Amino acid sequence: MNDLMIGISGVRGIVGESLTPELLTRFGAAFGTYVNGGKIVVGRDTRNTGPMVKHALFAGLLSAGCSVVDIGVVPTPTASIAVCELKAAGGVVISASHNPIEWNALKFFQPDGIYLDKEDAGKLLEIYERGEFKRAKWDSIKEVESDVNVDDFHIARVLKIVDKGLIRKRKFRVALDACNGAGTDITIRLLEEEFGAEVVKLNCVPDGMFAHKPEPLAANLRDLCEVCEREKVDIGFAQDPDADRAAFVSEKGEYIGEEYTLALAVNYRLPQKKGSVVANISTSRMIDDIAARHGTEVVRVPVGEVNVSRTMKKIGSVIGGEGNGGVIEPRVQYCRDSLTAISLILQHMAESGKTLSQIKAEFPSYHMIKEKMQCPQKFVQGLMDNLKKANKNAQLNLIDGLRIDWDDAWVHVRGSNTEPIVRVIAEARTADKAKGLVSQFKKDVQTYISGLK
Ligand code: MG
Repeated sequence: MNDLMIGISGVRGIVGESLTPELLTRFGAAFGTYVNGGKIVVGRDTRNTGPMVKHALFAGLLSAGCSVVDIGVVPTPTASIAVCELKAAGGVVISASHNPIEWNALKFFQPDGIYLDKEDAGKLLEIYERGEFKRAKWDSIKEVESDVNVDDFHIARVLKIVDKGLIRKRKFRVALDACNGAGTDITIRLLEEEFGAEVVKLNCVPDGMFAHKPEPLAANLRDLCEVCEREKVDIGFAQDPDADRAAFVSEKGEYIGEEYTLALAVNYRLPQKKGSVVANISTSRMIDDIAARHGTEVVRVPVGEVNVSRTMKKIGSVIGGEGNGGVIEPRVQYCRDSLTAISLILQHMAESGKTLSQIKAEFPSYHMIKEKMQCPQKFVQGLMDNLKKANKNAQLNLIDGLRIDWDDAWVHVRGSNTEPIVRVIAEARTADKAKGLVSQFKKDVQTYISGLK
């Protein structure tokens, strides 16, 4: 029963265990109180638990005097866009994203389609915990209406940033692994109907039964790589279940790596419009090199999409996102969006006439290693203080855990917000150097934890 996680990234848990209808209704009432009644847009991914979660949530929202627009199964970025287009007071997306199928979650949007930040999430949690909810009288309970056409908004916004005619001319043949998730229908529509591409479909039955582990990582995308090579496609796309993240596979069947998704978008966008790039501090240095080529810089923020989105909006950044395959293009929406990532790479390939492998070959070459270690959350601060002291003469960045930069490498150690683990990530020019840094810092973490026992 202790799998429930309530925090800045919303509320998530396992259905049938911690994520109960009682809890979901209370959260609905809390969010309804937080927005003081008003219109709330609600979308969900394809998980079979979505309807139960949705109806429990609706009861809470309606009880607090909200009206609800049910937009059905949609990608998270589509829900974010719908909140803006429908001029709602807020939104909720029901998706545990890349978590295993038994999980589900609520994530909350502000009226501008950006997630609640730490301060706002704190206010919502305070209302939830206090339990003093706004309650509408019987004669002011509002209704649930359905709007299943919000995909149109998303498609229209994406088409604004590319030359559809140029992409159509290339007659792309592509593969799509949508993980049987919320991106399936809208992505096929974008690729086939708008871009005139021929789509080889893999895991494109949007029933929420994930055919592989849902994170778009190399180990989970072997089938897609095989299909890309066998079917001689120009490019393969993989999405996570709520379609905010994407990873690409080359025409040779090579997994390109999710770090490249943002780097490719930055590389395409900066020559068009010079401006700042925003990314979290765990994102590859490839983007710093690309930004430097164009005489601009990367602003680094703590891990978490809201931190990237808010900073981008504040400073007027032209492109940003997270290294886990999440591209944020302000002309579309301040939300990670796989459809944007897919459209930008097709546009780039259509304009340049190059293959994905050729484009990738122009990139600075780095090796990144990501590992995690068990560490109870209460020890994280002490660990960070200890590491900081031990590395006091290095070039430190302390906005989220501890990152050390050298000319040819960096390492980042941080406590997870959602799991009792510490992540150790290193990137270097050579694989050996990255491996060496990870093992050195893992040893330091281990020594500290062992010293506590
Ligand atoms: Mg996701």
